[in-house]
Amino acid sequence: MVFQSPRGTADILPQDQPQWRFVEQAARRMAYRFGYDEITTPIFEDTDLFSRGIGSSTDILEKETYTFPDRGGDSMTLRPEGTAPVCRAYLQHGMNNLPQPVKLFYIVPNFRYERPQSGRYRAFNQFGIEVFGEQDAYIDAEVIELAWKYLEALGLKDLSLTINSIGDPSCRPKYIEHLKDYYHPHIANLCADCNRRINTNPLRLLDCKNDPCQELIESAPKSIEMLCPSCDKHWNSLVSNLSNIGLKHTVENRLVRGLDYYTKTVFEISPPDDGRMSVIVGGGRYDGLLEELGGSPTPGIGFGMGIERVIENLRRQKISLNQQNEQKIMVAHIGNEAKLEAIKLASLIRSNGGTSLVAPSRGLRSQLKYAAHIKATEVVIIGDDEIESGLFPVRNLANSEQKSFRKEEIINMFTQNQ
Ligand SMILES: [Zn+2]
Ligand SMILES: [Zn+2]
Repeated sequence: MVFQSPRGTADILPQDQPQWRFVEQAARRMAYRFGYDEITTPIFEDTDLFSRGIGSSTDILEKETYTFPDRGGDSMTLRPEGTAPVCRAYLQHGMNNLPQPVKLFYIVPNFRYERPQSGRYRAFNQFGIEVFGEQDAYIDAEVIELAWKYLEALGLKDLSLTINSIGDPSCRPKYIEHLKDYYHPHIANLCADCNRRINTNPLRLLDCKNDPCQELIESAPKSIEMLCPSCDKHWNSLVSNLSNIGLKHTVENRLVRGLDYYTKTVFEISPPDDGRMSVIVGGGRYDGLLEELGGSPTPGIGFGMGIERVIENLRRQKISLNQQNEQKIMVAHIGNEAKLEAIKLASLIRSNGGTSLVAPSRGLRSQLKYAAHIKATEVVIIGDDEIESGLFPVRNLANSEQKSFRKEEIINMFTQNQ
């Protein structure tokens, strides 16, 4: 019997690692450039954190978490999303006492027991950011700008940005009443999900994907038309901030978040082809969440981006990444004495900061084949004659040119650019 990786998970094989490294390093670079610092939280947390932080009646909590009692009997949950743990860390480490805003980012694995389908994994990686302690809409625009600039820097094209405001506890209840009144005469025509949600979570009727509901969504009342003065001011400020930095956007009434602690801004960035199943980034403001988790009222906003989705879109758009041309030196050897010399030279190159390995113990022709296979850039060839003369041929594998050098020259040559 041969084991397979669990359903809904994938190995990142050696040939895919350069792409992953590139995508992750670009994320770090972009986040630092906007003044964000990295945070890493544990892979599992108390289950209660997520029941509070995501809502215990959501699909995620009801059907998708990996929850288990640990050996002490406490209920633990593998991280299904990045925001709640970072909020927990912010409160636990007293970051609310630091000068605000506090700006954090993370690149971490998440776990959700989802129905496996293309582009959805049960273990997936997320690049996310969170900002705490800033009300002003300039930060909403900055969060969106960071996500956008990052995807743009990777070379992704034809992305679209949609935004909306879902108000806050002072204006949303009135909007929801209005929405219910609008839907009421049409209950018989709604899908089963919407029939249930109209009582539990009416906002979610707006992002229903089922056919019978689409027409009703089209002409549903718009949340941005019913904002209270303070939400309206925030919304207008967000829109003008986005225009100010030249970020094109569409206003989308379907864009909602079902939970009470989400407030005002919501946004998504999607690739050209598909609909919302393929959203690369989703984010928004959550001014009520820190309080929900036991902190004092603190505004917050952030986004989460699936790295698998980013990579899938890079592949779909056939974007090749400029991979760094790093030197990788293989030291080939003919004979026992030469082998000892090769081991020493490879070690010296590494000690000086270069990348080098000793050829496997077989004939020279086979060693050279191996060099091509591992994508070595140069091969140093050592035999008895070379040891005697102190001059070692260096072959460039890209153009097959060969030239001899002294040992010190070789070490300099392969380490000075590192
Ligand atoms: Zn529906
Ligand atoms: Zn409001």
